[in-house]
Amino acid sequence: MSSFESLIRSVPDFPKPGVVFRDITPLLADAGGFARCIDALAEPWQGSQVQAVCGIESRGFIFGAALAQKLHAGFVPLRKPGKLPPPLVEVDYQLEYGIDRLQARSDALKPGERTLIVDDVLATGGTLAAARELVGRLGAELVGASVLIELDALQGRTRWPGGLRLHSLLHY
Ligand code: IMP
Repeated sequence: MSSFESLIRSVPDFPKPGVVFRDITPLLADAGGFARCIDALAEPWQGSQVQAVCGIESRGFIFGAALAQKLHAGFVPLRKPGKLPPPLVEVDYQLEYGIDRLQARSDALKPGERTLIVDDVLATGGTLAAARELVGRLGAELVGASVLIELDALQGRTRWPGGLRLHSLLHY
């Protein structure tokens, strides 16, 4: 087990019966554990000349902003509707029930900017796929994606292009 894995709490039947929620808040509250986690997230991307890190609302902001600092890159929030003023670029994506939307400022990334997407959990892969499309529409060059946790059984990785790097720190 990694030095910070034990700080992630598994909560059965939350937010609904049958779901095991991975609670990262004890990890965030542990100064050493959080620092080691960010070091481990950054490690695969050292030397990749990442210029921008896009964090997905909301827990992707926490890991993405810390990772951006570590990689000496800028941070760009990919937000849920109603949070950012226009002009915006946006992508709709399917949830289990209904649709959701990710938005970014239309000039948030420079053309060709080397960009990494960050989120806390990869589940079915819909969120990451939408973020990838959004980064493409913004004209940046996508280097890959990093998640803290990949839920293997949901096979979200199959929705990510095979040739593009997707790094997961922990697998459940
Ligand atoms: P996906 O689109 O199905 O891959 O879901 C990924 C999104 O759902 C991420 O932005 C996560 O924050 C959130 N998510 C899904 N499952 C969990 C969980 O067990 N714990 C915390 N967040 C989750």
